[in-house]
Amino acid sequence: MAHIDSSRRPAVFLDRDGTINVDVGYLHAVDQLELFPWSTDALRLLKRAGFALVIVTNQSGIAQGLIAKGFVEEVHGELQRRLEMVGAAIDGYYYCPHHPMGSVEKFRGDCRCRKPNPGMIEDAARDLGLDPARSWVIGDKWIDVQLGQAVGATSILVRTGWGAFQEERRPPGQHVDAVCDNLIEATALILNDTRLEGPRGLET
Ligand SMILES: [Mg+2]
Ligand SMILES: [Zn+2]
Repeated sequence: MAHIDSSRRPAVFLDRDGTINVDVGYLHAVDQLELFPWSTDALRLLKRAGFALVIVTNQSGIAQGLIAKGFVEEVHGELQRRLEMVGAAIDGYYYCPHHPMGSVEKFRGDCRCRKPNPGMIEDAARDLGLDPARSWVIGDKWIDVQLGQAVGATSILVRTGWGAFQEERRPPGQHVDAVCDNLIEATALILNDTRLEGPRGLET
């Protein structure tokens, strides 16, 4: 690993749809937010192990005029409310509202935050004092894996959401550190990892 900076915390950067909650296409009502049954346990375990938890999600439905920014924030508020109740609160929510061909002019165009571009992780690292090189990225698409690689993090593809489909369509030359069935299996892998120096010692 490149220069370890122990003054900054390691994080787990998590995709949202298809990774933490069921991917319903463009989520457009808060009551459609359905977490996978293991998600709260997984997040709580990662948090207890000392990782910052950060959501990084492309929400191009905003650029396409399908959903409002306020709605995305409402969904994150609801997700946070549910996670707080079980001691698994997220430390930061980052979303990209842009799309290169969006119909909403304000959000149309190339940007530094749309995955696999690293903007959301760069912002979170600065805002929250995180060390991407000691961090993990978990998601159900290759763009999530590529995001991790763009910032020097370790990447896990999960087979939930689009993951199983994506696994069958690996881009030529695409590397991934691990493929796991779901977020709880990815969590077990992270907690058992001895390769990276980091917060360990699960409290019980
Ligand atoms: Mg996803
Ligand atoms: Zn963006």
